[in-house]
Amino acid sequence: MGKVTGFKEFERKTEPYRDAHDRLNDYGEIYTKHNAAQLQTQGARCMDCGVPFCQSITGCPVDNLIPEWNDLVYNDRWQVALDRLHKTNNFPEFTGRVCPAPCEGSCVLGITNPAVTIKNIECAIIDRGFDDNIVQANIPQSRSGKTCAIVGSGPAGLAAAAQLNQAGHSVKVYERADRLGGLLMYGIPNMKLGKKLIERRIDLLKQEGVEFFPNSDIGKTISLNTLQQDNDAVLLATGATKARDLEVPGRDLKGVHLAMEFLTANTKSLLDSNLEDGNYISAKDKKVIVIGGGDTGTDCISTSIRHGCTSMTNFELLPQPPAERADDNPWPEWPVIFRVDYGHEESAVRFGSDPRSYSLLTKEFVGDEQGNLKGVKTIQVAWNKDKTGRWQMSEVAGSEKTWQADLVFLSMGFLGPEHYLNSDNNIQLDPRSNYQAEYGKYNTSVAGVYAAGDCRRGQSLVVWGINEGREAAREIDRDLMGTTKLP
Ligand SMILES: Cc1cc2nc3c(=O)[nH]c(=O)nc-3n(C[C@H](O)[C@H](O)[C@H](O)COP(=O)(O)OP(=O)(O)OC[C@H]3O[C@@H](n4cnc5c(N)ncnc54)[C@H](O)[C@@H]3O)c2cc1C
Ligand code: SF4
Repeated sequence: MGKVTGFKEFERKTEPYRDAHDRLNDYGEIYTKHNAAQLQTQGARCMDCGVPFCQSITGCPVDNLIPEWNDLVYNDRWQVALDRLHKTNNFPEFTGRVCPAPCEGSCVLGITNPAVTIKNIECAIIDRGFDDNIVQANIPQSRSGKTCAIVGSGPAGLAAAAQLNQAGHSVKVYERADRLGGLLMYGIPNMKLGKKLIERRIDLLKQEGVEFFPNSDIGKTISLNTLQQDNDAVLLATGATKARDLEVPGRDLKGVHLAMEFLTANTKSLLDSNLEDGNYISAKDKKVIVIGGGDTGTDCISTSIRHGCTSMTNFELLPQPPAERADDNPWPEWPVIFRVDYGHEESAVRFGSDPRSYSLLTKEFVGDEQGNLKGVKTIQVAWNKDKTGRWQMSEVAGSEKTWQADLVFLSMGFLGPEHYLNSDNNIQLDPRSNYQAEYGKYNTSVAGVYAAGDCRRGQSLVVWGINEGREAAREIDRDLMGTTKLP
C-alpha cells in the first residue's frame, strides 16, 4: 500500500510542464522528463484505502488497477507495474498525457488532502517500459478464422483492434484520413501528444497482425455493405465529428472557422512539411478570438500563440467556475473548478493575462466591405435558477460590446457522428443522433454491426474511447465464438 504513513509525510508534487516561455516557441511536447525518485515518493502517498474510488465508476473508466501500481512503483518494481497497467489499458502513453484524470477527482485521499498524482505515475510506468524496450509486439498464437472490420482508427477503433486481434480474429482497420489515430493524430496537437507515440503503437499493432487501410472512406470509397459481406463483424468507431456551428449574422465572413478546420490542417501541414507548404490557416499577426472552451478551445489558443497571433481572447458562455468544489459537486464527482490549462498559461505569458472572458453570448460577426472579419459583437449573460431549480440564461441589458478580431475559431462541441456510411438508414440513431447501441453491449440495430466510442456515446474522452473499444471487442468475440476470455 505505498508507505503506511506516506500520505501524512509527503505532499503532492505533480510533474511540471516545460517553462511556458520556452515551449510556446515550438511544437514539442509540453512535458518534462520523469523524475523516478519523486514519483516513487508520490506512489508512497497512496493509502490503499480499501474501496479505491479512483478505479470505481466515478474514477478511471478503464478500471486501471491504481493502488496496485502505486505500491509497485513505490517499491521500485516498475516492470510488474507495467504488466498490471497493460491489463486494463492498451494505450497508457496516451492517457498518461491527455487524460483529465477523473481518477484523481475520486481519490479518497482527496477528501482531505491533495490527491495522489495518479496520471503522472501512469505515464512514467509506460514511458519507462518503452525506454527499457520491454514493450514488445505480442503476436497471437492461433487464429480463429473470423474476420472483423473496424471503421475509424481513433482510440476506440485502435483499442478494439488490439483486443480482437489478441482473441485471434483477423482485424482490418479502415480510416478515411491519410494518417492513423483519429483525434489522437488530427485533433490533439503535437504539444500535448507527440505523433511519434501514436506511430510507435500502431507499428506494434501491425507487427501483431492488425491490418490498416488509411485513405479508405467507408460510405464513399468502400460501402458499409461491402464490409458487412466480407466480414463476420463490423465495428463503427467513427467518432463524433459533426461540429456545433454558430449561426449568427456574419457567420460566412472570411476569418470565421470551425476549430477543427484550424487544428487538423495545422497538424497535417506540420507533419507533411514543418508548416512550409502553407496549407493551413495562419494566425500570424492576427487578433484571434476562440469561442468556446474545453480541450479544443485550449488547443486553438496554444496553436494560435505558436503561429504568432497579436492578441488572444477566449469567450465562455458559462460563468467562471469556483476555485473549490461547490456544495452540489461533492467528492467523488469530477470537480467542476477553475483550472488553468497549458494554453491559458501560455497566453498569460505571451499577453500578460488569462485569455478567458466569461458569461458572454456572441450575437454577430462584423466585417469590412470585402467580407473580411473585423469584429465580434457580444452581450453579457446572467445565469439564475428558475423555480424548478434549472439554470436559465438571460441577457444583461446595456452590456453589448464589440471586440476586434481577424480570426475566430468556433469550439463549441460536437453533435455526434456524420451519417453518410449509413445512407440507407438501417442503423438506428439515438435522440442525440449517435448510433443507438447499449453501453456494455455495443450491438446496433443491424445484426453484425457494432458501435463504440464517441460515435455511440457522443463527444467524450480518449480514456472512454479505450474503454468502449475494449468492451465492444469483448462482446464481438462473445457473439462470434459463443464465449470470450477478453476482459
Ligand atoms: C481538439 C480536441 C482535443 C481533445 N483533447 C482531448 C484531451 O486532451 N483528452 C481527452 O481525453 N480527450 C480529448 N479529446 C476528445 C478525444 O479525442 C475523443 O473523445 C476521442 O478521440 C474519441 O475516440 P473515438 O475513437 O471514438 O473517435 P475519433 O478519435 O474521433 O476517431 C474516429 C475516426 O474515424 C474516422 N472516420 C469517421 N468516419 C469515417 C468513415 N466513414 N470511414 C473511415 N473512417 C472514418 C475519422 O477520420 C477518425 O479518424 C479532444 C478532442 C478534440 C476534438
Ligand atoms: S486513464 Fe485517466 S482516469 Fe484512468 S488512471 Fe489514467 S489518468 Fe486516471
